[in-house]
Amino acid sequence: MTAEVSALTVPFFTQSATFSGLWPITRRHIVEVIQNGKYSHGRKVLELERALAAYTGAAHVVGVNSGTDALVLLLRACGLRPGDEVVVPAFSFIASASSVVLAGGEPVFADIEPDGYGLDPASVAAVAGPRARFVMPVHLFHHLADLTGLAEVARGLDLTVVEDSAEAIGMRHNGAHAGLLGAGGVLSFFPTKTLGALGDAGAVITNDPVIAETVGALRHHGRFGRTIDNFPGISTGTGAVGVNSKMDDVQAAVLLAKLDRLEADIRRRAVLARRYADGLAGVPGVRKLPSVLPRRASVRGVFYVYVVEVDRRDELAAHLAGRGIGTETYYPTPLHLQPCFARLGHRPGDFPHAEAASRRTLALPLYPDLPLGDVDRVCAAIRSFYLGERA
Ligand SMILES: *Cc1c(COP(=O)(O)O)cnc(C)c1O
Repeated sequence: MTAEVSALTVPFFTQSATFSGLWPITRRHIVEVIQNGKYSHGRKVLELERALAAYTGAAHVVGVNSGTDALVLLLRACGLRPGDEVVVPAFSFIASASSVVLAGGEPVFADIEPDGYGLDPASVAAVAGPRARFVMPVHLFHHLADLTGLAEVARGLDLTVVEDSAEAIGMRHNGAHAGLLGAGGVLSFFPTKTLGALGDAGAVITNDPVIAETVGALRHHGRFGRTIDNFPGISTGTGAVGVNSKMDDVQAAVLLAKLDRLEADIRRRAVLARRYADGLAGVPGVRKLPSVLPRRASVRGVFYVYVVEVDRRDELAAHLAGRGIGTETYYPTPLHLQPCFARLGHRPGDFPHAEAASRRTLALPLYPDLPLGDVDRVCAAIRSFYLGERA
């Protein structure tokens, strides 16, 4: 690729400018890790857990190796027994359902709301059978699932609410951080997430001390009855077999450096989203823009990604790629039609809203390093696709 072409490129995601700006503070944290001498599950991880507890308001934050592991260990710590059913949305990242299987349960799919991407409470009530014990709302893209409606259905059916809040750092419902509205939730620090590391990392957040203690043991081979260095609180458990899902201290160092500017990054994301909304308003073929305002006043959304619903989605993505503009499709195949869940016997048409979202959604570049002028270029390229040279 020539320098000229790359200068015109709008990558789907980059944070090299962010990291250059944060290098002095990141370096300070990494030097401390090296001096501490413990590079995994050490003091920097504990420091991050405390800082995240302060940011989210969670009583407990337990750092693990990924958001997916956080979901698996959270479900296990919430008492999921083999064969228990967990109602999950048919439109989500695969980990929302694979985590259930990995924890020993069975996913049961439900549709999403027609006007959003959260679990539809009515669909949850329709699919939950006698073996359903959990419901997992997923907060996708830029706003929270309907936690009020879902909590009501969960109460009626005696389901425990476990939130897949992997995308939802910074999102709040009546002041409570996403993930803290039921038994517990998770955070993912996968690099593209709103708070992203330089590799994989995740956390469980909860206000329940028993869940926190159990996850704390499970992440470290279930080291029950043994005091772990630097983690004097984590010394008991339930006698279950654990895994190795410790967080790396270097990732904790990176995340501590970035956490300081998370709120500024979230504001920047909102500014970029508004620019897209202005640039794409009224373009034929662009069926739906994410609402800039939360749909309920009590909800604070965060633009983790900027997802639009468009006609001829794959052709548009190819048109943009031809102009050096990166996009992503989240998620091209709904979960109930994934080959790994074929044994559940679902067919196209079972969850129409999830299927429509899979056909129409396209994520446009959105990250704090993105210049406003690049948003304008993306919007102009989208207009030229639908309007031709008139744009
Ligand atoms: C990213 C993500 C996960 C998994 O997080 P990892 O850290 O990548 O394992 C789970 N659920 C949703 C909705 C996600 O976006």
